[in-house]
Order: sequence, then C-alpha cells, then structure tokens
Amino acid sequence: MKTIGYAALSPSTPLAPFTFERRALRANDVAMEILYCGVCHSDLHTARNDWGWTQYPAVPGHEIVGRVTQIGADVTRFRVGDAVAVGCLVDSCQECDHCHQGEEQFCTNGRTDTYNAPDRITGENTYGGYAKHLVVREEFVLRVPDTLTLAHVAPLLCAGITTYSPLRTWNVGPGSRVGVIGLGGLGHMAVKLAAGLGADVTVMSRTNSKEADALSLGADRLLVSSDSAAMAAAQSHFDLIIDTVPVKHDVNPYMPLLKVDGTLVLVGQVGPLAEPTTVPLILGRRRIAGSLIGGIRETQEMLDFCAKKQILPDCEMIRMDQINEAFERMERADVRYRFVIDMASLPAPSAQ
Ligand code: NAP
Ligand code: ZN
Repeated sequence: MKTIGYAALSPSTPLAPFTFERRALRANDVAMEILYCGVCHSDLHTARNDWGWTQYPAVPGHEIVGRVTQIGADVTRFRVGDAVAVGCLVDSCQECDHCHQGEEQFCTNGRTDTYNAPDRITGENTYGGYAKHLVVREEFVLRVPDTLTLAHVAPLLCAGITTYSPLRTWNVGPGSRVGVIGLGGLGHMAVKLAAGLGADVTVMSRTNSKEADALSLGADRLLVSSDSAAMAAAQSHFDLIIDTVPVKHDVNPYMPLLKVDGTLVLVGQVGPLAEPTTVPLILGRRRIAGSLIGGIRETQEMLDFCAKKQILPDCEMIRMDQINEAFERMERADVRYRFVIDMASLPAPSAQ
C-alpha cells in the first residue's frame, strides 16, 4: 500500500514529505488510517541521530491513533472502523519469559520499535506514525475506550505509558509522595497519572514559569530545582522521583530529596549522566533506576484507567507541515504539553 508521511533524511535537514510503501497485509495484521500522532522528544532524538543508531530515511511517530481500514484473515479482536492505537512497539518474539509476562519491551529476542528498527520478518526499517497509514500485527494494537476523546488520546501511547509504568512498578497510591523532574510531555502525564492514583505530587522545574500549569494539571506544588534553599527544605520527602530530563544532567541534587529506600527512576536521557556520588545512595539505601515504556497489557490498563478517571493529555494540535517548528519549540521546552499532528492535514497520496 502506497502512503505518504514525513521523514528525516539526515540529522541536519528538516523533516520533509516522503512517499513509501506499507507492507501487504499479513494474516495477523491490522491496517489503519492514522488520524492523530503525538510528537515525542524521542522523535526529535531520532531525527537528529542523538543516540547514534538512526537509519535514514527515518519516519518518526509512536503515539498513534486511528481507525481500522482492513484486517488480515486471522485477526479476531478488531473490526473495520474500530478506534485503535499503537505505541512504541510493533512486534516481539511472543515466546520468551518477558513476552509471556506482558513485558514485550524487554523481549529477550529483541523488541521491534515502531520506527527505526528492523522488521522481524523482512529486516526492513520500520516507519512510524508521521504518516497516513500503518500496518501492525494484531497483538500490538490497543483498543481506545470510546469515552476518550480521540483527538487527545495519542500522547498516552508513549508519554502516558512511560510514566504510568514506573508509578505502578513502585506501587504509587494514596499516601505516596511523587516528584516529577521536567514539566514537558512525559512530565505532565506523570503529574496527571500520579494525582489520579491518589499521590501527593511535586513538580521540579528549572524556573517557576510553569507553576500555575503544574497546579492546574493536578500537582500539589512546584519546586524550583535551581533554588538550593527550597531544595534543601525538601530533603527526605519523596518515595519516588520520575526524571524526564532529555539531556545529560546531574542527578546528585535530587538524591537527598528521597526518603530512605526511595527511588529516582530515569525515563528521559538515554546515554551518560553526570557522575553520581554514592553518598546519598549509601546513607539512605536510595536507588537510581531506569524504566522503558511499558508492555501491551499495561498500556491497555493505562488507557482503561485514563478512561475511568477521564485523564487526558493537554494537546496543542498542529498540521503535519508544522513539524519542524514543533521540534524547535520542543527543544526550547516551549510546549504545553504535547504537540499532536492532525493527519487530516496530510493529503492522501492519490491526491498529490
Ligand atoms: P519534552 O516534552 O521536551 O520535556 C522535557 C522537559 O525536561 C522539558 O519540558 C523541561 O522541563 C525539561 N528540560 C528540557 N531541557 C532541559 C535541560 N537542558 N535541563 C534540564 N531540564 C530540561 O520531552 P518528553 O517528550 O517529555 O521526553 C523526555 C525524555 O524522555 C526524552 O529524552 C525522551 O527521549 C525520553 N523518553 C523515554 C522513554 C522511555 O521509555 N524511557 C519514553 C519516551 C520518551 P522544565 O521546563 O519544567 O524544566
Ligand atoms: Zn516517545
């Protein structure tokens, strides 16, 4: 199937229109028309080759919402017309212990990311959701509860699950104290989800410019991370801190803010950290951990939780041709709080 999208052709050139083929439907595949796609900072890292493993052309986008247009002969859980979503994963071995446990992101034989990864069968580079159409095997398609407004669902598929998963892993609930470093796409979902789970939530931001937003998103307070007196006053406060900072940074100022046995979980920056000191770790049995998105089962659980609590991301809708400007604004942390591309702005290939 011929489709159109936007691709990065090199680390230094703007994303540009790109026509390509989606694979012919396999028996267990679902084909969808993409209606909306969120813009994650990982899309920007990939377009710019920040992690050093980008294959060009690269079609980013892993916060995908659309409607089923066709199903393969063996598909049982979806019908044409269903509202569906796809996140960061499109395949895994389905046989290893991690896949059996519903944690396909840790597949022993290698997960397949929605973009910039080799297809398990053909080896071809996967292309993501900055496009009009997508073909994905049934097991990696999520059902969108019909009480959620479709135009706002997309960021749940990465920003939502990436913050929900550590909240669940570390058993956050009423009485928990959660800190969130960086109020961007992931950060604002961390606030909404932690508040939705009943936790006391503190945003840690570089300035106080997002304070009113933080409170209206559901946080109990905003702590300015550059204010050393305020940081000192917050010592031994948190059970869990979710760190969404997208660049190399220093976690040392945050560690003493954890209680004994508290955990700082990194979900931002894939790569080196400024050198952590062991002092707060050893003296408080504190931990630095990491977390990668979440499995399909947990992603569906998160979507259903958001439907039940009516938790939706704050979205700024853009046209596909505004993506380069959106990337620049995201780099300046000027996004409140997730760009979502309206794919109706991208003409179908036949209309070109
Ligand atoms: P984002 O919307 O750009 O938000 C990042 C926030 O971090 C900004 O709003 C800003 O908050 C803060 N920040 C930005 N630059 C900073 C700097 N130089 N120093 C300190 N703080 C800074 O990005 P996002 O989409 O939430 O993604 C965040 C990171 O998570 C990215 O690196 C992305 O690749 C990664 N990610 C990881 C996973 C995973 O599975 N682990 C999944 C998705 C994304 P303030 O203005 O409030 O300080
Ligand atoms: Zn993402």
